[in-house]
Amino acid sequence: MNRPLTSELISQLHSGALTARQLVESSLNRISELNGTLNAFVAVDAEGALTRADEIDQKRKSGKPLGRLAGLPMGVKDNMCTLGMPTTCGSRMLQNFRPPYDAHVIERLKAEDAIIVGKLNQDEFAMGSSTETSIFGPSRNPWNTACTAGGSSGGSAVAVSSGMVPLALGSDTGGSIRQPASFCGVTGMKPTYGRVSRYGLVAYASSLDQIGPLAGDAEGAALLLECIAGHDKRDSTSLPLERPAWTTELSQPLKGLRIGIADEYFTEGLDAEVEQSVREALKVFEAAGAVVKPVSLPHSKYAVATYYLIACSEASSNLARYDGIHYGHRADKFTDLVDLYCQSRGEGFGEEVKRRIMLGTYALSAGYYDAYYLKALKVRRRIREDFDQAFASVDVIAGPVAPTAAFRLGEKLNDPLAMYLGDIYTISTNLAGLPGISVPCGFTSAKLPIGLQLQAPILEESRLLRLAHQFQQTTNWHRETPA
Ligand code: GLN
Repeated sequence: MNRPLTSELISQLHSGALTARQLVESSLNRISELNGTLNAFVAVDAEGALTRADEIDQKRKSGKPLGRLAGLPMGVKDNMCTLGMPTTCGSRMLQNFRPPYDAHVIERLKAEDAIIVGKLNQDEFAMGSSTETSIFGPSRNPWNTACTAGGSSGGSAVAVSSGMVPLALGSDTGGSIRQPASFCGVTGMKPTYGRVSRYGLVAYASSLDQIGPLAGDAEGAALLLECIAGHDKRDSTSLPLERPAWTTELSQPLKGLRIGIADEYFTEGLDAEVEQSVREALKVFEAAGAVVKPVSLPHSKYAVATYYLIACSEASSNLARYDGIHYGHRADKFTDLVDLYCQSRGEGFGEEVKRRIMLGTYALSAGYYDAYYLKALKVRRRIREDFDQAFASVDVIAGPVAPTAAFRLGEKLNDPLAMYLGDIYTISTNLAGLPGISVPCGFTSAKLPIGLQLQAPILEESRLLRLAHQFQQTTNWHRETPA
């Protein structure tokens, strides 16, 4: 299969070898050919995309200045508000929601002349690791359609992996960009907390949520992230920083860069083939002049418990607004006001979302707050301090993205704990607010992609993108495409 990288498409658009219309048409064709099987897109705006493509072709012809994403078809996870397109969060609760405004990131994409082709499948309210809790049914992994695409941004990873679009946006609260990227063999990045405005992102766990790019390679991810990053006063957690120029730093030498390896990332439960690919990747960096050193992250064994307490607590509060009156699905039949709330929420939310609301409400309730929520906040601080200490002696930390490659659809759906445990390597990045990237680094013997995770100190995205980019200059894993 031919899956051009973002930079290749940009140069073809520049040279005139390709028009935006042709590119959008081929994207739409690919979607109609494959989406029935892969279920990546849950809404497609073909007409809008083609109109926009013509406008951009016209603009190019007339010599007017063009944005940096001019003419590139893109998909956006369905939890980011899009004017004129549905934004369902994969939930019955928001099935009929059409936002009256664009999220900050959508405004940024439009300002850069990107073409938003449609919205991408996800776990309901981004709660999950397999895109199986979506009301639209699961996305399927392009490498093996019996396997999950990962989640919660499964649709985003599938759309890029299968060549439907060169770029997509996902959100990452505990691994939801990096894990599907790793399962589908694409590059995905979770930026530093506060790097990208969350204005117009439907909230799951507000102290952890970040929007980030998925692309065929690190260069594409760097470009997209550069376009969406930067301060926005409508998100109080948005950092007041200028937009960086990561794309110009990708080739800075790696010589002397110190890469930390934590024993805690190579624990029981880690698949042997995954471990081997990750260790092979380290040799590539060493050959480029980087130095590998051991570090220790002693509190990471508490990360899953800490994350699920904090994420569920925040979710229980964030999702209180969906009561059938303020927001969301309203039940037809009810007896009084309280019954209206109960019926609407009972019908609108799926099982996993209900489980989390109940867990979170419990953890926040009087008498349990100190024992659960407050305790989790304290452990979160310890996890953050582990990273501070590790980053005193290394520049980045490397490890696997997930303990295994893509698992089979249905395998963990009825075992929430097994599903949660699969997030073990990605969630501390969010708990500590760090940037993290997933880079394709090999395949299992069953030909399923494997991802390498790199984590850096706060605001050091540049290091991750440089490492990923230079890894992709010497390896070809990111070039492999599913049949
Ligand atoms: N799998 C994790 C969860 O279910 C992470 C999801 C996410 O990053 N949105 O909470």
